[in-house]
Amino acid sequence: MEQICDKNKCTGCGACQNICKRNAIKMDFNKEGFIIPIFDPSKCVDCQQCIRVCPVNHPRELNEPITAYKGSSNNVEIKKQSSSGGIFSELAKVVLSEGGSVFGAYLDDTLSVRHIMIEDEQDLGKIRGSKYIGSDTSNVFRLIQAKLNEGETVLFSGTPCQVAGLKNYVNNSIGTLITTDFICHGVGSKTLFTMYIEHEEKKINSKVETFVFRSKIKNYTDFPCLFTFNNAKTKTYNFYKTSFGNAFSTGKINRISCSTCQYANKGRVSDITLADCIHNLNMTEKKLGCSFVIISTELGKSLIDKSDISINPINIEEISKVQSHLSKPQSPHEYRSLIFQNIDEGYEYIVNKYMAPPKKSIIKSLKERFRYAKSKFYKS
Ligand SMILES: Cc1cc2nc3c(=O)[nH]c(=O)nc-3n(C[C@H](O)[C@H](O)[C@H](O)COP(=O)(O)OP(=O)(O)OC[C@H]3O[C@@H](n4cnc5c(N)ncnc54)[C@H](O)[C@@H]3O)c2cc1C
Ligand code: SF4
Ligand code: SF4
Ligand code: SF4
Repeated sequence: MEQICDKNKCTGCGACQNICKRNAIKMDFNKEGFIIPIFDPSKCVDCQQCIRVCPVNHPRELNEPITAYKGSSNNVEIKKQSSSGGIFSELAKVVLSEGGSVFGAYLDDTLSVRHIMIEDEQDLGKIRGSKYIGSDTSNVFRLIQAKLNEGETVLFSGTPCQVAGLKNYVNNSIGTLITTDFICHGVGSKTLFTMYIEHEEKKINSKVETFVFRSKIKNYTDFPCLFTFNNAKTKTYNFYKTSFGNAFSTGKINRISCSTCQYANKGRVSDITLADCIHNLNMTEKKLGCSFVIISTELGKSLIDKSDISINPINIEEISKVQSHLSKPQSPHEYRSLIFQNIDEGYEYIVNKYMAPPKKSIIKSLKERFRYAKSKFYKS
């Protein structure tokens, strides 16, 4: 076997690793910091299962949305701990209360992200909240299949490409698989995330103990991220104004396959799609958060109907006006390749040259223009 799929289109979904009975595939990071399958030819028996399960080779059919809403959880604490309106947690609570299990992305102590299984509501906090780097699904689809074989209900929450990989992987089984994804901007580089964290540690002279990409420590609409350091100090910034967050949001440091994403579409691969709602908010929503909810199957609708949430109908076209990734993927920034070509130069070098958040560069260019105008004035 030469390769599983086109390397530039591989999303790192992990379906190939999960299907390989010979354990000839393991997921690891490439130099840019994205999860990829690493293939061991000495273990491979050329069964082609990995090629067949790959959603790049065999894309899933997408469902047209049935209905859409704007709203949030009825629980204030859950909203405070979630990235937008806390809808995911309410869906998970229903599945757990009926004896099912829930799978989602967990940011561990080493600040790596991987999918884990939750069976107890007390542990839901581990998979709450957005983490803007790729999550490793190694061996997780196998566990989901085992749960489905036992007749359980499983709720899987992940990126649309992971849901596609999981759906290609699971066989008919007696249990019920429900999937929830989000309108997806892409995933950022783990290598640059680690460099960013180390850079902050140097500034404070203490190790980072925990990091929350999207906290509600101030409110929802300022997008505060939250550092807690070993020396008990905390720091908060607007995530999208940090060097990492700004580079992520402008497509400078995202996975290359995200720029040709087949799920940046109104048609959805999951039963339920969630997204941040940041427009036309009332005071409470500005503080505690609000989500868009897109329902694409009857299964998704029945889970939403059982959840402890307050939602109001909204036209999907209205969501589309403020959510560009319902119609097109994030384009890679012109600096993307330069950033990864120069990654060995260190974080400060890359930030100064290519990743400075806009405010600084605007001030810098204004100062430069002022200096230039002044020099012209004195010369004349
Ligand atoms: C990488 C990424 C890109 C996103 N892009 C957009 C966007 O362009 N526009 C938009 O409106 N919203 C985007 N979101 C979604 C948004 O940030 C919220 O997660 C969503 O609105 C759900 O919020 P919630 O409060 O209901 O649930 P939350 O509790 O915030 O739950 C989020 C769910 O996402 C899952 N998740 C978190 N990180 C990852 C990850 N790295 N990989 C896979 N699954 C993960 C968790 O398992 C959890 O179940 C993105 C999220 C992520 C993780
Ligand atoms: S199955 Fe997923 S991880 Fe494996 S090659 Fe295809 S896209 Fe990449
Ligand atoms: S061809 Fe079969 S044995 Fe070889 S890596 Fe793919 S799934 Fe594993
Ligand atoms: S943008 Fe597309 S390819 Fe990238 S993580 Fe999201 S769903 Fe996957």
